[in-house]
Amino acid sequence: MSAYRDLLQQTDPEVFNTISGEEKRQSEGIELIPSENYTYPEVLCALGSVFTNKYSEGYPGRRYYGGQEFTDQVEELARQRACELFGCEHANVQPLSGSPMNQAVYLGLLEPGDTILAMDLSHGGHLTHGAPVSHMGGLFNFVRYKTNPADGSIDFDKVRDMALKNKPKLVLCGYTSYPRDLDYAAFKAIADEVGAYTMTDASHYAGLVAGKVMRNPFDFGFDVVTTTSHKSLRGPRGGMVLCSKELASKIDKSVFPGLQGGPHMNAIAGIAITLGKALQPEFRDYAVQVLANAKALGKALMDRGGDLITGGTDNHMLVLETRKSFGLDGRTAEELLDTVGLTTNKQIIPDDPNPPLRPSGIRMGTPAATTRGMKEEDMVMLAKWMTETLKNPDDTTKHESIRRDVVALCSSFPVPGIS
Ligand SMILES: *Cc1c(COP(=O)(O)O)cnc(C)c1O
Repeated sequence: MSAYRDLLQQTDPEVFNTISGEEKRQSEGIELIPSENYTYPEVLCALGSVFTNKYSEGYPGRRYYGGQEFTDQVEELARQRACELFGCEHANVQPLSGSPMNQAVYLGLLEPGDTILAMDLSHGGHLTHGAPVSHMGGLFNFVRYKTNPADGSIDFDKVRDMALKNKPKLVLCGYTSYPRDLDYAAFKAIADEVGAYTMTDASHYAGLVAGKVMRNPFDFGFDVVTTTSHKSLRGPRGGMVLCSKELASKIDKSVFPGLQGGPHMNAIAGIAITLGKALQPEFRDYAVQVLANAKALGKALMDRGGDLITGGTDNHMLVLETRKSFGLDGRTAEELLDTVGLTTNKQIIPDDPNPPLRPSGIRMGTPAATTRGMKEEDMVMLAKWMTETLKNPDDTTKHESIRRDVVALCSSFPVPGIS
C-alpha cells in the first residue's frame, strides 16, 4: 500500500482518511483483543499485490482458468509450509475466513442432520460451533458440553456420557474464549468409542501450537485441524483446513466447488509468507513471549482484585469477570478501557445471567502487544492502568492521565507496517 499512498490520497481522500485514521488508532492504543494481531509488512505487501487480480478456481495443477503459473507456485508454497509447520499430510489454504473453513469441514465430512459434539458458546465455543443463530446450528444437530463451574475444567466423564447418548459423527474441540490447553487424548478416546471424526478449531491459538508452547492435536491422532491465519499466526485474514491424505479430497471438494468460488490469491500469498515466518526459530521466541505476557498480565490483574475465569491462563487469553471484580458489566468495562486506549472486548462468561450485549466479563489477550515488543513489565503497567480505570469509572481526570501514559508507552513500541 505504501507505494500508492500518495495516489490514493489524491484520488479518494475520503477513504484515505479512514485508513490513516485507523493507522493512528492502532499506533496510539494497545490492542488487547485476543483474536487480533498486527500482520507483517511483507504480508501487507502481498495483500496489495497483483495477485488480487487473478481468478484461480480449482487447485494447483487443476484450475478452471489459464494463466496459473505463479498462483500455482504460491499456493503450493503455502500448502507445503502449512504441512511442515503443523505436521500434517494435507492443507487447504483457500477458505476465505474462519467461518467458511468450519462450514467446509462439516459439509464435507457429514450429512445435514448429523450430530456434532462441541463446546457451549457461553463456555468458550465459537459461533460456528453450532450457536442456534448460525446457519450451521440449524443444519446440524449440535449437542454442547460445558465447563465445570468450580474451576472451568472440562469434565470428560460428562463429555463421554453425552457422546454415548447422542452418538455424534464429529467430536469438535477448540474455542474462542477459554484460557486453557486441551486434553486431546481424552477427546480422541471418546470419539473413537463412538466412531466419530475428531476436529480441533485452533483458530485462536494456532500460533502457540506452531511455536510449540501448546499441544498439537495431530500428536494425538486428530483427523482435522482448522485455523484462521490472522490471529496468533499474524497472517492475513483467511482460513486453513489441515488433515490427513485420506480426507484430503473430501475437504478440497467441500471448499471448492462445494462452498466457495475463486480463492483470494493475494491472501494466499500472505499466508505463504506468514507460514514461512512461523517456521523460523524467532517465531518460537514470539510464542514463548505471548504466553509469558499473558501469565504476567493475569497475575498482575489478580493481584489488583481481578477475578479471572479458571483462575489464570495456559494460552494467550484471559477472561476477566468485570461484574464480580469491579461491579461493572462487560460493555461498560470495554467502553471505559476504550477511553484510555486499551482495546478489549465484552465477553459472555459461563452461564452468564446477563444478555450478550451487556455480559459479565471482558476478554483480552497478548498476541498483538507482544508483536509490538512488549514484555512482562509492560503487562504489569497495563494491569495497573486497567484496574485503576475500572475501579474509578467516573474519574475522567484519572482516565485522561492514563490515556497520556498509554500513548507514551505506545511511542516506544511501533506497529509493524505503520511508519
Ligand atoms: C475467529 C474464529 C473463527 C471464525 O473466524 P472468522 O475469520 O471471523 O470467520 C472460527 N473459530 C474460532 C474458534 C475462532 O476463534
